[in-house]
Amino acid sequence: MVRTEQLVKRFGDNIVLNGVDFSVKRGQAVVVIGPSGSGKTTLLRCLNHLEKIDGGRIYIDGQLVGYREQNGRLVEDSEVNIARMRSQVGFVFQRFNLFAHKTALENIIEAPIHVLRQPKNEVIERARVLLEKVGLSDKEDSYPHRLSGGQQQRVAIARALAMNPKLMLFDEATSALDPELVGEVLKVMRQLAEEGMTMVVVTHEMGFARDVADHVVFMDKAQIVEQGPPEQIFNESQNERTRNFLGRVL
Ligand code: ATP
Repeated sequence: MVRTEQLVKRFGDNIVLNGVDFSVKRGQAVVVIGPSGSGKTTLLRCLNHLEKIDGGRIYIDGQLVGYREQNGRLVEDSEVNIARMRSQVGFVFQRFNLFAHKTALENIIEAPIHVLRQPKNEVIERARVLLEKVGLSDKEDSYPHRLSGGQQQRVAIARALAMNPKLMLFDEATSALDPELVGEVLKVMRQLAEEGMTMVVVTHEMGFARDVADHVVFMDKAQIVEQGPPEQIFNESQNERTRNFLGRVL
């Protein structure tokens, strides 16, 4: 469902993705791990064209992401096409980015009503189902500043799900949370994975990677060093860089 071919991304002289071949099958939960600065977040941001790429290609469902071919060359796609692609890909950020002046429910219904132009009553009904799913039925009228970080992040997940995405991307969704709030967010993410949502999760939570991932990708220095099922990466890796990293974080 997601495939990158020889993906290259630079920031100035700094090469951040150096020929990355990455793929996700439908229904898979892929967890990306690796040291700080290895390119994990940048990979995720390239997948829905929050970053422009410098080489290679990205496909979602066989469609080129962010670019189209013109006379054998890649040119950036139209804003309309990019927006359409993004509306099918949920992105959950480290910082929750909720609209501060909107309640939990209003945050969730905003895009389905204004972007997808779905009928308001149906959207509200679905938003309530999603609030229940993330365990926040009693918070629909709360503004973000009255919610804990974990609750805000769960609203952010519900908001992404309200667009009925075919793919969910999580960028260190629990890194900004107090430790006691991490579990409630991981629980929602775990539930989504069990329901068969296709997802890519960048995280430092090794327990989550080990228990929930169908496939673990280890990145270091702008490249994928090793990937495979969690047992392989966590228990059987013969790769020195993988073992070194895990030795430091486990
Ligand atoms: P962490 O686990 O600390 O979030 P990461 O593996 O997600 O790290 P990235 O955030 O992808 O790493 O960053 C990879 C490299 O790209 C780093 O050297 C970082 O400084 C650089 N970088 C990321 N975003 C930008 C930007 N907008 N401008 C310039 N350099 C950037």
